Amino acid sequence: MNTLVEAGLNTSETLDLPEFEHLAPDTSEALTQNTTDAPDRLVLVSAIDDHDYHALPAVRAKAALTDDGVLYLTEDARSDMLVRSYIASLDRRKALSEGKIVPYHTVYEVPYSEIQRLYTAAADPTATGLAGLRRTAEESYAISMITEAAKEQASDIFIEVYPDSAEIHYRIVGDIERRFSMKPERAKQLIRTMYDSMSEATDPHYDPTRDQSGRIAKRHTSGLGLHQVRVSTGPTDEERPFMALRLHYDLGEPRSLVKLGFSQAQSDAINDVTAHASGIALFSGPTGSGKSTSLANFIGLRQKLDGCRRKVIALEDPPEIPIYGVVQKAVLRKGLGREAEGQAWIAGFETLMRWNPDWIIAGELRLRETMDAALKSALTNHLTWGMLHASSATLVPTRLQEAGIEMGYLSDPEIFRLFANQSLVPQLCPHCSVTFTRGEAGLAQGLVQRIKAHCTAETVRLRNFSGCDHCYRGVLRVRTVCAEVMTTDHALLTKFRNEGAQTMRRFWVRERGGITKAAHMIEKINQGLIDPADAERIVSPLDADAHLWGDST
Ligand SMILES: [Zn+2]
Ligand SMILES: [Zn+2]
Repeated sequence: MNTLVEAGLNTSETLDLPEFEHLAPDTSEALTQNTTDAPDRLVLVSAIDDHDYHALPAVRAKAALTDDGVLYLTEDARSDMLVRSYIASLDRRKALSEGKIVPYHTVYEVPYSEIQRLYTAAADPTATGLAGLRRTAEESYAISMITEAAKEQASDIFIEVYPDSAEIHYRIVGDIERRFSMKPERAKQLIRTMYDSMSEATDPHYDPTRDQSGRIAKRHTSGLGLHQVRVSTGPTDEERPFMALRLHYDLGEPRSLVKLGFSQAQSDAINDVTAHASGIALFSGPTGSGKSTSLANFIGLRQKLDGCRRKVIALEDPPEIPIYGVVQKAVLRKGLGREAEGQAWIAGFETLMRWNPDWIIAGELRLRETMDAALKSALTNHLTWGMLHASSATLVPTRLQEAGIEMGYLSDPEIFRLFANQSLVPQLCPHCSVTFTRGEAGLAQGLVQRIKAHCTAETVRLRNFSGCDHCYRGVLRVRTVCAEVMTTDHALLTKFRNEGAQTMRRFWVRERGGITKAAHMIEKINQGLIDPADAERIVSPLDADAHLWGDST
């Protein structure tokens, strides 16, 4: 059911490729054995003038056929009359031979540049040209996989090799989808090709026994809406190869926090921080919570609206997504290990300070060194933005305290100005979601009770995992932010210093009217925007705030 699986005998099926929204909801169907074998020598038959499968020059711009039965097409090739008649001639040949001759059995969709690369490699008359075509074809296969994953807005691609088979998995809106399978030898070859000839990495050669990382060279991913694809590989247990690809998408035009899912009040609170010339604001969240995307969009939009009137410099290891109006400096590591990493950040900050920025984006505050550097920059008249791995805004100062930041700094609202925390929940498909009454029977009893107790059941909508033509298993390929944004003040941080994080949280909710992430999540459930089971799994139980209103303390 997708461009990468074996086409089988019924070619009319392969010609009607599923579109973005028409993804098969049943993955077992897509998990078809790919039996394409890799001969040593490869011939581009569509380029040979007197060959039966020869293609006209106009067709060659959009299509290429190799003698191992792989037909490479650009995305729009099928809407071209000449390409259609070329494919029809191949199909006719197969029909006339009653299926004994199969001009092509697999279709890969690739960018225009890949088609060009195939013809260029084939035109090279030297022996390396033939080997080059083999390699180029292998690369085109990898690129067709990345192209498909990017269309699905997948965040990761995993290549897993088992003794008798190999599987390719995509992560789409947070869920793993087993996409298709192939022979283990083929997968090993694919991993090697992607590392050796497509990646820019510190180690030039793939070594299946070691942990290695790099990124796919830009020339392979241009035009796919991707900023970067990071490659990471290393042996798993029993030394089987494994490769993970992380897809970083271009941000595009910076979007407002409200567009991302923050409430207007939360967005206002974050914007209020920009009235100050110094201090720190921290965006936190679990892995995959989209905190870096939120920060990048927020800063990018502010820079755009304000005509880049301030100098904003980010320190990143490594820079991942380009941010509008921001100079992004890479952290340069000299050597491996925790100590070298810390020193690299300190050195990076020293350079950055010499560039005299107004705002600093301190990146992920994972190490004590980065926290110290962020604190130092905040104290020296730079408004500083950073990120932290934490499951709630309240836990941010706790994490900093555990790392050794002095309480004197932590309880100063002129230094620590704001703690934000977020999670990302997939948005329900408005076409196929069902009412609570209709779907109630399929839910766990505890969840039904929590929905009745904490939500307005009549406006709640539930995810329909069968999905429809408009969605991916009942959800859109967009996720919305559920967040809490805590603006600090003297009384609030004094609560933290004297009575701890939980008391501060209770004070924030009761005395400052703070909206917790769970409360924001329930608002969205009540709007029918997100599914309550998804929300509980990703954010927190619906009754997470109950204790905040209890009488203790
Ligand atoms: Zn529909
Ligand atoms: Zn739907």
